Amino acid sequence: MKHGKHKKRRQKAASGKGKRGLSRRALVLASAGILIAALLGIFAWKYFFAKPAFDGRRAFAYLQQQCDFGPRAPGSEAHRRCGDFLAAELGKFADKVWEQRFDYRDKKDTTRVYRGRNIVASFNLKPEKGFRVMLCAHWDTRPWADKDPDPANRLLPVPGANDGASGTAALLEMARVLHGRRPDFGVDIVLFDLEDLGDYHAEAFPDSLNPFCIGSEHFAASRGDYRPRYGILLDMVGDSDLVIKKEAISRAQAPQLMERVWAAARRAGAGAFVDAIGPALQDDHVPFLKRGIPVINVVDFDYPYWHTVSDTPDKCSAASLQQAGNVLVEMIYGGK
Ligand code: ZN
Repeated sequence: MKHGKHKKRRQKAASGKGKRGLSRRALVLASAGILIAALLGIFAWKYFFAKPAFDGRRAFAYLQQQCDFGPRAPGSEAHRRCGDFLAAELGKFADKVWEQRFDYRDKKDTTRVYRGRNIVASFNLKPEKGFRVMLCAHWDTRPWADKDPDPANRLLPVPGANDGASGTAALLEMARVLHGRRPDFGVDIVLFDLEDLGDYHAEAFPDSLNPFCIGSEHFAASRGDYRPRYGILLDMVGDSDLVIKKEAISRAQAPQLMERVWAAARRAGAGAFVDAIGPALQDDHVPFLKRGIPVINVVDFDYPYWHTVSDTPDKCSAASLQQAGNVLVEMIYGGK
């Protein structure tokens, strides 16, 4: 009896000890399992479901860096150096970067030839689903601040923080986003040169005056085989008081794309995209629209410093670039 009691106690103690050991191991294993599952979940959510993040502050740093070269008027040293910088920066992220170089002879001073550079960065060279999307902006800046309120400034070059650097800056940051997560279709970032050499009445006098959008016209005309499914042009998207209305030519000629972009803006909470009609602008989308490719112009034309020497980074903000970037991310990764 006594002995038996002792045995029982020993058994109980042994089994009790065993249970404690097992439960500790089970606890550790269960914890590890939960941790691994959670990490896998976070990984899956981040890489398969959540949209990648566009960083407006990084984009703003790109805006500042471009302006630090000085005005990027075609033919200037700042233009050449900034072009090299843009190509090198895109080369860090894209599958392929190439430049379309071309000459443009000035129509008022025929001794003058501008050397244009359209810079193209491609992601997914052979997409399975077989279609490509173009994201574009112009990177040159206007050589003359001819809308400056002070006549003394009108032959000075435009610094182009908003008009030139802003769209380009947003697309450089977008290149980083695309590098981090390739969409299953092709994306081409195209930075057009010689957008802003135009004379305001060139359409009435095409033989003697220079048009706007020389680089994009050259690109569209010389590459007839390039037919992206759609394109989005960013121009003057850095204004710290950002209000983007529906540019009238885009709205008339690519209404479905415009509605898709505005729907993406609503989903992204980009309040700067308002449901109002803006002016019709001769911009880099027009050469593509003429050729039947839907490209819309995302532009804030209510910018008091347009074509003045006051178009400087302090008039722009990271928050505005963030909104434009969020809409691009929503369009590219939003599932449509
Ligand atoms: Zn301009």
